[in-house]
Amino acid sequence: MPIVVSIRQLAKGQVRFRGELPVPELDIDTLDEMLQVREPLVYDLAVQMAGAQLLITGQLRLILDCQCVRCLRAFRHELLLSGPLFSLPLEGEDAVPVINECVDLTPFLREDILLAFPQHPVCGPECPGVPPGAAKGKARGRTATHGLKGASVWSELNKLKL
Ligand SMILES: [Zn+2]
Repeated sequence: MPIVVSIRQLAKGQVRFRGELPVPELDIDTLDEMLQVREPLVYDLAVQMAGAQLLITGQLRLILDCQCVRCLRAFRHELLLSGPLFSLPLEGEDAVPVINECVDLTPFLREDILLAFPQHPVCGPECPGVPPGAAKGKARGRTATHGLKGASVWSELNKLKL
């Protein structure tokens, strides 16, 4: 079930959402082999209308399966966002789509979570570091933007063919 809020209901007051969003519906493409999403997103949200805006507060919790970029060890990272999360304009150029007087919050939650993803997941302060003779190529190129990543893979393949 997508997380959909009714404008009509909001006009009467705050609306609360609690539950879990399964992985297929969360539909996050991490574009990063070091990060995997295998657990549902747990949410506890309050949505209220303030003028021509929706204010979303509450808590988002997601367990990420990560691979340490330094020692390559698998570990789990808890992503926890709480407090004021984001606001959505109902009017103007950036207004969110309203369908049948409802707003689907799912894409905005997804965006909020992606922004909070660790850029360089490291297993912890006691990380033993790069194992000898390994990982050199793997850790490289991670600073490149996601959009360029696919292109660089292809150019690497081309190099191999030559
Ligand atoms: Zn590590």
